[in-house]
Amino acid sequence: MTTTHCPYCALQCAMHLEPGPNGALTVRPADFPTNRGGLCRKGWTSAEVLGTPDRITSPLLRKDRNAEFTEVDWDTALDYVAERLSGLRAEYGPDAVAVFGSGGLTNEKSYLLGKFARVALGTSQIDYNGRFCMSSAAAASMRAFGLDRGMPFPLTDVGEAEVVLLAGANPAETMPPMMGHLAAPTLIVVDPRRSATAQQALAQGGMHLAPRPGTDLALALGLLHAARIQHLLDADYIAARTTGFDAAWAQAAAWWPEQTEHVTGVPAHQIRDAARLLAEASSAYVLTGRGTEQHAKGTDTVSAWINLALALGLPGRRGSGYGCITGQGNGQGGREHGQKADQLPGYRKIDDPAARDHVAGVWGVEPDTLPGPGRSAFELLDALGTETGPRAMLLFGSNPVVSAPEAQRVRDRIAALDLLVAADFVLSETAAMADVVLPVAQWAEESGTMTNLEGRVLRRRAAAAPPAGVRTDLEVLNGLATRLGQPADRFPTDPDAALAELGAASAGGAADYSGVTPERLEEGEALHWPVRAQAEATPRLFLDAFAHPDGRARFTPVAHRPSAEATTADYPLIATTGRLMGHYQSGAQTRRVVELAQAEPEAYVEVHPDTATRCGLSNGAWARLTSARGTTVARVRLRADARLDTVFLPFHFAGEQAANNLTNPALDPTSRMPEFKVSAVRLEPAAHHTEGENL
Ligand code: SF4
Repeated sequence: MTTTHCPYCALQCAMHLEPGPNGALTVRPADFPTNRGGLCRKGWTSAEVLGTPDRITSPLLRKDRNAEFTEVDWDTALDYVAERLSGLRAEYGPDAVAVFGSGGLTNEKSYLLGKFARVALGTSQIDYNGRFCMSSAAAASMRAFGLDRGMPFPLTDVGEAEVVLLAGANPAETMPPMMGHLAAPTLIVVDPRRSATAQQALAQGGMHLAPRPGTDLALALGLLHAARIQHLLDADYIAARTTGFDAAWAQAAAWWPEQTEHVTGVPAHQIRDAARLLAEASSAYVLTGRGTEQHAKGTDTVSAWINLALALGLPGRRGSGYGCITGQGNGQGGREHGQKADQLPGYRKIDDPAARDHVAGVWGVEPDTLPGPGRSAFELLDALGTETGPRAMLLFGSNPVVSAPEAQRVRDRIAALDLLVAADFVLSETAAMADVVLPVAQWAEESGTMTNLEGRVLRRRAAAAPPAGVRTDLEVLNGLATRLGQPADRFPTDPDAALAELGAASAGGAADYSGVTPERLEEGEALHWPVRAQAEATPRLFLDAFAHPDGRARFTPVAHRPSAEATTADYPLIATTGRLMGHYQSGAQTRRVVELAQAEPEAYVEVHPDTATRCGLSNGAWARLTSARGTTVARVRLRADARLDTVFLPFHFAGEQAANNLTNPALDPTSRMPEFKVSAVRLEPAAHHTEGENL
């Protein structure tokens, strides 16, 4: 029996894996602080994907995009890739090659992928799909606290609070075991939808505040206003531990509850009540999720929620705080160790000379040889195959033609590449467009570390050997790096050796992993970073001081503004997107699990019955949704508690049913996160649709 962690979300529930009678691994939940012996249906069925019938076990190559793939041996595949990369770099320069990573990769892979890009390829063009997931909260936390660790406290602390405000998060659907921590507190859920979490809040005697999509920044300003006029702010805390309150208040001063109701649709009395409930609690948390972040103003929206938390004196106090609920399995670690365009390991900035000196020293290269910052994820995808953009892309653990906004534009850009190389375990929708596909091992077939939503570094353990013919991502990077002229020992294939090097590269940085060792991980220590060498871990940050040089948290003055796209006569409804319990991200894994695919086999759109009637649609009918960017089809699900002006679509489905055919790539100016949550659309009966396109 092997004890490890789930391959999917950032809760990183623990599980036992052991071979069943037919040799396939079986799953049992294990006790762990985040899941307390629970798993969601994705976790229970997670081993099934290892044996999916369409798993690739041999490298695939085609020299003509219109031809079928041919199975080749590893030397042939890697020689071909290295030769093409060398040729493109020689002709167009090092930035001709892009690397696209994932918030699902282990810390060791994230680290070596960043090193591979900067050292073996010399390219600045690396980013990852985590940019679509947590980058707005990361940016807002950096400016408020001087440090970004999603939850700067253990999740178990939240369960002991009196009140928890959840803004734009739906853990009852996306990470159900987390609800065990939210059973006792009174919940205030902020969500345009009557989500499963909102229903739970009401069942527990809490509140559901339902702002119009794209207005929760205004709601946060209104709550700050309501708290102040009811004399509920923590003036001593503001004076002792923060700076910038007056400028932040200047932005909130006009947001009387009635004005806030006018913009958000949330009744003024609910705003006053929620402010009082949160402020009068002896212990309280404000937690934000993707609903706050995936907007062209996502960073400012998260800042508005942090301002509220600061004004009430919550962050940096034991038993209270602000946190971001990270989504992807290694969304936290994946944004710390160098696969982000502007970053070096240890959460260092790539344009910081001291950071470059330190990391170059660990890597044994000259600091001047390291490239500078590159393009953010969508900007990188949008530049592919253009005159000034990359000509080739290496893709690890990501499926951007399903998960990126304006999916058709992304498909077109990827199709324009001279070379696409995908490291994947199946022909995902993006891998199917590649010139070379390299079959790689999955989570239960290799070891490594992940960093969960609390900043806790965990040990993933191998429970089975990968299928014959499959290699690990670390072996792929080593194979390519050596063919590009790098010494083999610069790209270790042993995850523990990679962890040791990551520790040295991160030492002294904000996310310091230098004390994370295999021994401490095996002993089951709770290793929340920073974990300095021979030092204790840090479960709770900011109790004494925030990470800015003056030790104070900073209010950020933020103003409400409309979403990037307004509804019009042609596109009269708002479409918003999100996740389902039974699927994960682009669905490349979960759509291959029979139980999950049977439960949710196709895209659907939640519509209010009156809206459906107006559009000529009934329950179960196929609808076509059209935005200024494209169309998608989905089966209508009527919901009497849906908003009349808004429809909801899950984004796990592909092709004609991809929600991201509709979504708007308008980017947040700070985090560069796209506006997935608000698209103006038209809804009408579908003249035809493609059944069964999702596998
Ligand atoms: Fe736990 Fe998330 Fe896995 Fe579900 S998907 S079992 S909530 S880690």
